[in-house]
Amino acid sequence: METLRLSTNESDLKLAGEIIRAGGLVAFPTETVYGLGANALDAEAVASVYKAKGRPSDNPMIVHIANATDLYALIDGGIKGLSDDASKLMISLWPGPLTLIFKKADIVPDVTTGGLDTVAIRMPSNPTARRLIKLTGRPIAAPSANLSGRPSPTTADDVLEDMDGRINAVIMGEQCDVGIESTVVDLTGDKPYILRPGAVTKEKLERILRRAVLYDNSLLEKPAAVADPEDGVADTGFKPKSPGMKYIHYSPKATVRLIEGDDNEFRSKVMRLGLEAREKGLKVALLDYDNDPGKAAHKLFAELRELDRQGYDLVLIRTLEEKGFGFSVMNRMLKSAGYDVVK
Ligand code: AMP
Ligand code: MG
Repeated sequence: METLRLSTNESDLKLAGEIIRAGGLVAFPTETVYGLGANALDAEAVASVYKAKGRPSDNPMIVHIANATDLYALIDGGIKGLSDDASKLMISLWPGPLTLIFKKADIVPDVTTGGLDTVAIRMPSNPTARRLIKLTGRPIAAPSANLSGRPSPTTADDVLEDMDGRINAVIMGEQCDVGIESTVVDLTGDKPYILRPGAVTKEKLERILRRAVLYDNSLLEKPAAVADPEDGVADTGFKPKSPGMKYIHYSPKATVRLIEGDDNEFRSKVMRLGLEAREKGLKVALLDYDNDPGKAAHKLFAELRELDRQGYDLVLIRTLEEKGFGFSVMNRMLKSAGYDVVK
């Protein structure tokens, strides 16, 4: 199929909305990463998202809404299904890079939630995304608009690199502000759990909720084994809360290794590995974000893709302090490196 390039102007967004209402797939910018959108209530359309991404169908999607009131139709019990914690987080942090998990209403198809009885919902702040959802008049289910396993796309060109010819249209918006995916918080249990760390940090959630927020265990343990990215699936032996957590993620074609240590250790490791690699005729790149998580998040996925295009074989990335937003960005760096940290 031919993939339309659409602008962010009103008439193009209207057309994008028509395509989604008719069951088609449109990639669109958000403040986190580009999403691949389908009508969340149309099981067939959602199933075609999995096909376009080459993604296993037990991986749940995030449902994107434009108004807080759009939430009630999607969650069990409607407005009564809203807990105090959920209300507090929505009032303080929506629209923004925060996804909340609720028990789902029956109208949400199983395919949208990967067969779970919960649904993940987010209200993005990106004006193009919000306008698109409003004009579509439907909640939009959207995973990141990349082929399964690859780094998430943060520019329209990165979307086209993976999806040209596989989807109906791409909205050619700007580079995403944040650059990594939303924080996912599960509010369906006794305690709030972070299933995926993002720009909204644990500390920020705790300040708003005035109680402890926990990281899901899978975020604290290194998986026992990491599978070959060719398989797409990591048999890591750990039991994730969300099926989406078990797949290999964010991997470029180049080998990625993380380098930790103070300035001197860092330099000597880079010298050693760089020389070794060049003796083997490998092309080596180095990414150092000066321990600035905002800068690292904004650039990481785009740079990994650019280095692939330039034919690099090995990418060395300097680690960040795993604190605040740095914890979230390190989560992505560790996954793209298959947890390979050079000691
Ligand atoms: P992506 O669409 O690539 O941003 O990934 C969406 C992620 O949201 C999934 O991989 C899950 O980690 C998470 N998610 C979505 N829905 C649920 C749910 N119902 N329960 C738990 N996690 C979810
Ligand atoms: Mg993704």
